[in-house]
Amino acid sequence: MSENIRFNLEDQDLPKYWYNVQADAPVSLPPVLHPGTKEPVTPDFLSALFPMEIILQEVSTERYIEIPEEVREAYKLYRPTPLMRATRLEKALGTPAHIYYKYEGASPSGSHKSNSALAQAYYNKKAGTRALTTETGAGQWGSALSMACAFFDIELEVYMVKVSYEQKPYRRFLMETYGAQVFASPTDRTQAGRSVLAKDPASPGSLGIAISEAAEVAATSNGQKKYALGSVLNHVLLHQTVIGEEALKQMDMAGEYPDVVIGCVGGGSNFSGIAYPFLRENLKNGQRTRLLAVEPSATPSLTRGVYAFDYGDTAQMAPIVKMHTLGHSFIPPSIHAGGLRYHGMAPSLCALYDAGLIEAVAVPQVATFEAAVLFARSEGLLPAPESAHAIRQAIDEALEAKRTGEKKVILFNLSGHGNFDLTAYDAYNHGLLEDAGMSEAAIQAIPERLPVVPERAII
Ligand SMILES: *Cc1c(COP(=O)(O)O)cnc(C)c1O
Repeated sequence: MSENIRFNLEDQDLPKYWYNVQADAPVSLPPVLHPGTKEPVTPDFLSALFPMEIILQEVSTERYIEIPEEVREAYKLYRPTPLMRATRLEKALGTPAHIYYKYEGASPSGSHKSNSALAQAYYNKKAGTRALTTETGAGQWGSALSMACAFFDIELEVYMVKVSYEQKPYRRFLMETYGAQVFASPTDRTQAGRSVLAKDPASPGSLGIAISEAAEVAATSNGQKKYALGSVLNHVLLHQTVIGEEALKQMDMAGEYPDVVIGCVGGGSNFSGIAYPFLRENLKNGQRTRLLAVEPSATPSLTRGVYAFDYGDTAQMAPIVKMHTLGHSFIPPSIHAGGLRYHGMAPSLCALYDAGLIEAVAVPQVATFEAAVLFARSEGLLPAPESAHAIRQAIDEALEAKRTGEKKVILFNLSGHGNFDLTAYDAYNHGLLEDAGMSEAAIQAIPERLPVVPERAII
């Protein structure tokens, strides 16, 4: 019997609304605090960085937010994205489980990041923004925003974490081809960058530092430049929910419903994008899908970090939010999943995790690449090292189903392709990759490095 393995939606199935989990979440979000005063932030502070429509989305509790026609038109370049059943992988594993994946690498820039980049560029254009600044880790967000800025005719400066700038020159070439200017962060262009370099001239950089630099350039531009962030914030997670909305329809076409939905987490956007629409079905329609976030053992913010108020960046310029954090001064090991090296995690995801509505697990680097290679050999697509964390966990769930004989339905998000990550695959293929962990002493030391926030600000 031959079964369908590809579930394609038509143009008219492209979602018309983003889903805002804030409308249904049984937990409310703690306030966002000003990094200087440590009091709740005012719209003024945020409006130096973001256009008003984005700020309104950040704090919205409306359940559905309409996707502007211009953004839907741009989405049509690559959306709806495919949902595939990984039958060859199932066979290779000898599992009775059915494994499905949603393929966000189908976007021209190679990952789910375009879903928010296009929306953010659109709202900035509408508000009259001529230039944006941003940071990028592995270069996926930088590539996506470079493309979006080319579409909407906005200038872009990208602060790229130095270790990725060096490991992944091709991502930089792509950003420059789309018309962006790219700098290896820490740079000497900003106060934040200079102060890091003064202490450590050989600093490999971190997302936290790059965020400080990009935000500083926007905040000190006298309104000439705005700033865009590729993950963590509510509006970014909101834009990503097109992934889960499409996946719900496609699982319906497949005649199945997932027992578990899996995604890798860096700042939490692709996981939330696929998981929140399924969470809505859990909360409102009695479904009982497990929602499982996967992070690297090298940066275990959900599974081992502290749930506390911390700065979003290293230079203590970004707002203080309550999240699972490894501490804003955390310099992550140079693992190849550059997009997963952030010290914190999306506050909305952390609140839901804390409430027990979402599960999390950490996986080591070498086992992750082993899973990526098995996936490539059975399904043909080369996964981004970030996405490979979700694959590792999907495979482990499928192997567990093999042991128990359960016909489990597994859905994971393949957040991007790894065609620019061949150096990492080459290292793996030659036995050069190692696992990096975080010592118990380093975990114990996190609370000392967190800001002290006044009690009255947070109740
Ligand atoms: C950026 C990135 C991630 C991690 O970011 P999230 O906001 O957690 O999704 C994961 N996968 C890919 C392919 C990325 O580019």
